[in-house]
Amino acid sequence: MADLEVRDLSKSYPTRSGDLEILSGVSFELNRGENLAILGPSGSGKSTLLHCLGTLESPTSGTILLEGQNPFELPEAKLADFRNEQIGFVFQDHHLLPQCTVLENVLLPTLAKGKSSQEAIERAKSLLDRVGLGERHDHRPAEISGGERQRTALARALILQPLLLLADEPTGNLDRSTAAKVSELLLELQNQENFILVVVTHSLELAQQMERQAELNEGTLPTPTSTT
Ligand code: ADP
Ligand code: MG
Repeated sequence: MADLEVRDLSKSYPTRSGDLEILSGVSFELNRGENLAILGPSGSGKSTLLHCLGTLESPTSGTILLEGQNPFELPEAKLADFRNEQIGFVFQDHHLLPQCTVLENVLLPTLAKGKSSQEAIERAKSLLDRVGLGERHDHRPAEISGGERQRTALARALILQPLLLLADEPTGNLDRSTAAKVSELLLELQNQENFILVVVTHSLELAQQMERQAELNEGTLPTPTSTT
């Protein structure tokens, strides 16, 4: 069994004129260390798919298994823990807390269980070194650049060593050369940490760096093809 198995996933939203089907029978599987770029026009359901993979939204039908576990079978509180510990998110907007420092932002996911341990603080510092922010621990988000904010968000997403990292247009707000550095980092960190990486992107440059690409079209995702 693959580390991530998506089987026949469908998602519809009820509307006044009937159910609006966004995803219809999406299936694929990925193992640790593998990555996938999801392409598709605006409104094609890319974020909806990512939200389902991230357990932020439940599918209408179909199953998602992470290391054999169906997270939607967990009780609410356990699901929140599962999401916090197993899944990292990077969005187009960094979603950093403006009142917290860079280091505090990276440590936020570790606060779910109370105070951050010394071990967590050491890991946060090491991640910040690896994303090139070793000298920026005490800065606040307003005091760093857009690329640095996105690199902080990446460190935060990885602090608890997730099995799955989901990135929704992670370079969408960055200029080309900053975007290239952030995508390079994403892949470098994946190499080091061996998580599963799923990236939604409009950037062909980023998509082509991934091992597999698939385009969402009318709710269906063809079997991801590998370019490598
Ligand atoms: P993408 O990320 O590819 O641009 P989305 O996944 O955000 O697309 O949205 C896909 C479609 O689902 C859009 O047509 C959007 O209007 C619709 N949609 C998203 N969320 C909801 C919701 N909560 N209720 C109804 N329709 C929604
Ligand atoms: Mg979207």
